[in-house]
Amino acid sequence: MKIGIVGGGINGLCVASEALKKGHEVALFERGSLMSETSANSSKLLHGGLRYLEHAEFRLVRESLKEREYWLKKSSELTRPLRFYLPVYKTNRRPAWMVRIGLYLYDVLAGKHTIQKHRKEDIDQFSKQFPQFNKASLSVIYSYSDGQMDDQQLGLMLADELRSEGCRVLENSPVDKLDKVGSIQLKSGERYQFDKVINVAGPWAEILLQRSNIDCETHLDLIRGSHIIIDRPLDKGFILEVPNEDRVFFVLPHHGKTLVGTTEVRQSIDEPIKASSEEINYLLAAYQYYFKNGVTESDIIGNYAGVRPLLISHKNPNKASREYVIEKNGEIITVFGGKWTTSRALGERLARMYL
Ligand SMILES: Cc1cc2nc3c(=O)[nH]c(=O)nc-3n(C[C@H](O)[C@H](O)[C@H](O)COP(=O)(O)OP(=O)(O)OC[C@H]3O[C@@H](n4cnc5c(N)ncnc54)[C@H](O)[C@@H]3O)c2cc1C
Repeated sequence: MKIGIVGGGINGLCVASEALKKGHEVALFERGSLMSETSANSSKLLHGGLRYLEHAEFRLVRESLKEREYWLKKSSELTRPLRFYLPVYKTNRRPAWMVRIGLYLYDVLAGKHTIQKHRKEDIDQFSKQFPQFNKASLSVIYSYSDGQMDDQQLGLMLADELRSEGCRVLENSPVDKLDKVGSIQLKSGERYQFDKVINVAGPWAEILLQRSNIDCETHLDLIRGSHIIIDRPLDKGFILEVPNEDRVFFVLPHHGKTLVGTTEVRQSIDEPIKASSEEINYLLAAYQYYFKNGVTESDIIGNYAGVRPLLISHKNPNKASREYVIEKNGEIITVFGGKWTTSRALGERLARMYL
C-alpha cells in the first residue's frame, strides 16, 4: 500500500517505522522540521508515569514501563536510567503509606522491565548529599528509577533510520487539507494520492480534520507545559508536590544544569507556545521551596514550552487521561493524544489495526 503520514514528531516517525516494517511505501509530510514541536519540548522522561496510578491508568503505565525499556536499550548515548528521590513531608497531600503503595505497584507493573526497585532512603545520608534541601517536617524519603532521554536527538536518530529504509521524508511541506479518499493537499497546492493517510499532527491533528471538513468523535484538550533551566548542577531526579497543591513537579539533571517542570495551562491552538512569566515564577517558587541554595531569577538560563495533545476527559488538566485514541474516517486514520514513551507501541497498534 501507499501510505501518507502527516506530522514528523515522534508519533509520526514511529507510525512510519511500523508501516515500513509491513512493506508499505511511505511518504511523511512535516510542515517545518522533524522533531521540532511537542516531541522536542517534553520533560525528557522515559517513564511509566507514577502519578497516573492515582487515576487507575494501569494499562497505560504497564505499557509505558515496557516501552521505557525498549528506548533505554535502543540508544545508550541518548538515554539513561535515572534514580529519583521522592521525599514525603508531614504536610504532603499524599501520605507516606499511599506513596509506598504507589511505588510497590509501579515495581509490580514493571515486572521484568524493572530498572531498579524502589527503596526507603536513609534521611541522614540524603542530608549529607543534599545539605541545602528543605528537611523541615520531612517524614520519609523513597527512591525509584525511571529513564531520561534526549528527546529531539533520539527522534532524529529514528528519522535517519527511516530514510535509510526508504521512507520519503518531506520537510517544510505543510499539509492544507485531507480528503477521506486518501488524498493530501499541500499548502503549495500539490496533491498526492495514497491508499491510507495517517494524521499524526499532534496538537494540530483536530484542526487539520476541521479544515478538511472531516468530523471526528474524539476531541483534544490542549494543555501547555513549561520548563525552566537553572544554572546549577544536579545528578539525581526529584519528584515533589507543588506546595499547597495536588500537583507534582520534576527537578531533573539536564546537561550539567537543572531542569524544572512542568505546568498545566489550557490554551488554544492559535496562541503562541511560550512559557509565560507566571509559569516561570511558579516553577521558580516551587523549586525555591525545596532547594535552599540561594537560586534567584538571575540563575534561570533558559525556558521552553510544549502543548500536550490530551484527550478531553477531565475539567482539571492534571487529572486528564494521557491515553491515546486512534480514529478512522474513510481512508484517514487520526491519532489523538499519546505520550513520547509510548510512541512505538502506538505505531505498532495502529499498524496492527489498519495497515
Ligand atoms: C510539557 C510536556 C512534557 C512532556 N513530558 C513527557 C515526558 O517526559 N515523557 C513522555 O513520554 N511524554 C511527555 N510528554 C508528551 C509527549 O511529548 C507528546 O505526547 C508527544 O511528543 C506527541 O508527539 P506527536 O508526534 O504526536 O506530536 P508533535 O511532536 O507535536 O508532532 C506533530 C508534528 O506535526 C506537524 N504538523 C502539524 N500540522 C501539520 C500540517 N498541517 N502539515 C504537516 N505537518 C504538520 C508539527 O509541525 C509537528 O512536528 C510531554 C508533553 C509536554 C507538552
